[in-house]
Amino acid sequence: MDKILSTFKIKSSNPGTWIGKEALNSDQVITSYSPVDGKKIAEVSITTKDQFDTVIEQASIAQKQWSQMTAPQRGEIVRQYGNLLREYKDDLGYLVSYEMGKSFQEGKGEVQEMIDICDFAVGLSRQLYGLTMHSERPLHRMYEQWHPLGIVGIISAFNFPVAVWSWNTALAWVCGNVCIWKPSEKTPITALACQELFSRVLEANNLPQGISCVITGDKEVGQWLTSNNNVNLISATGSTAMGRAVGADVAKRFGKTILELGGNNALIVSSKANLKSAIMATVFGAVGTCGQRCTSTRRLLVHEGIYNEFISALKKAYAGLKIGSPLDESNHIGPLIDEQAVQQFNDTIAKIKETKHEVIVEGKSITIDGNSSHCYVHPGVYAVEKDNPLTKQEVFAPILYVIKYKTLDEAIHIQNDVPQGLSSALFTTDLQESEYFLSHKGSDCGIANINIGTSGAEIGGAFGGEKETGGGRESGSDAWKGYMRRQTNTINYSNELPLAQGIKFDI
Ligand code: NAD
Repeated sequence: MDKILSTFKIKSSNPGTWIGKEALNSDQVITSYSPVDGKKIAEVSITTKDQFDTVIEQASIAQKQWSQMTAPQRGEIVRQYGNLLREYKDDLGYLVSYEMGKSFQEGKGEVQEMIDICDFAVGLSRQLYGLTMHSERPLHRMYEQWHPLGIVGIISAFNFPVAVWSWNTALAWVCGNVCIWKPSEKTPITALACQELFSRVLEANNLPQGISCVITGDKEVGQWLTSNNNVNLISATGSTAMGRAVGADVAKRFGKTILELGGNNALIVSSKANLKSAIMATVFGAVGTCGQRCTSTRRLLVHEGIYNEFISALKKAYAGLKIGSPLDESNHIGPLIDEQAVQQFNDTIAKIKETKHEVIVEGKSITIDGNSSHCYVHPGVYAVEKDNPLTKQEVFAPILYVIKYKTLDEAIHIQNDVPQGLSSALFTTDLQESEYFLSHKGSDCGIANINIGTSGAEIGGAFGGEKETGGGRESGSDAWKGYMRRQTNTINYSNELPLAQGIKFDI
């Protein structure tokens, strides 16, 4: 681990405020502990208000130069960053795994996602298209174009400590914005590693350091960002409670937001499903990343005709799960992020016990031989009533609720009858069922999949969800429009001044 930390110039004690490669230190620190083995990774200083003001100042200066470069020139910078990420994929992936607790495979997958979004953004830098419209007035031309917003503030969650930042920043950069990143206080070290790599690109190209800034701290530091008038867009990823506060703060000053909040994702298994792939998808969706993906499968809706067969296959699959260090690639499940998350997991199981339920797999906290971390749990599966209030909440841990259903309409109703609307999946080989699920009468989520689980989105599509998930869209498709402002232009090349709607105004 020491070798990897030194690759990214991370010491035992680090500044937490960065303007490119310029670092600002302070007295108060956050200590990052690994949930993998409970050991201290390093300390990071917390950004002060004065340091925050300096960051805003430097970001504003940098934005003037950055936005004057052409979009393809900015794309070239992002291309160089993508190449550095290729070079350091294993090291950064390992660090993600060690600081966050996801498997090394998933850690590398996160870095791959960063590389992919850089490639996407490079292509996008030549495709920031506007439309041309026909004017109702003769000898007039009307079109729209997209301009940079200015400063984009990125607030990220612990569970995708680097990929979510890159989804935002790679697009925001090619669109001509500069970015200030406040990573989760639970995973600050990986953020410093990303910043260190990007500052090398800035230096090699003699660009202003304020194009990429990092600030460190908890919600107090986040609130400086959300309430600052110079920050044109806040892209915030995290819990619905956080989004509710951030959304209100930014709305007060008429700023823009992209909110990517909690999910409560259901997977429906029809009587016409390929059960083998449905089992795989269910187990990966429910226990992958120890149930700490916004798209994790939290509710499993199984048709009554195949219920017994499916549940016994599910039990068998859970019995084969290996729990332990995520750095050991033979393990399926690593730890939860911290002991507080374990407490929440245990509390939720205690609450399930107070309601009508059947234990399919008992969830419990466990210790791993020779490991001093107290963050490991055995995932749980519980059959519950469809209206059990616990099924309406997102608990960020590997607890799966199972509900039996009779008709697809009933399953869709149960699926949609929660406050969140992120990801959803139906396993079926029946064309009518599949089309119905994807129609407006079907899933109300931002993501609806057929014969694919709820978790594991590709960067090419727009990512995000409805209702309490916040309505934001990031990553692929036309999500880039969220990082720009649209301007409608009308040009009169006649010698007359005809008014719109045929209005006469003679003087
Ligand atoms: P969290 O809400 O506790 O924290 C997320 C970030 O918000 C942190 O950086 C935190 O410091 C900051 N923050 C919290 N309150 C704030 C405030 N009032 N003002 C400004 N900043 C504030 O979330 P978490 O525990 O790190 O992550 C788990 C949650 O994130 C889950 O609910 C999960 O579903 C969600 N998530 C959603 C997506 C998505 O794309 N929809 C992706 C990943 C995670």
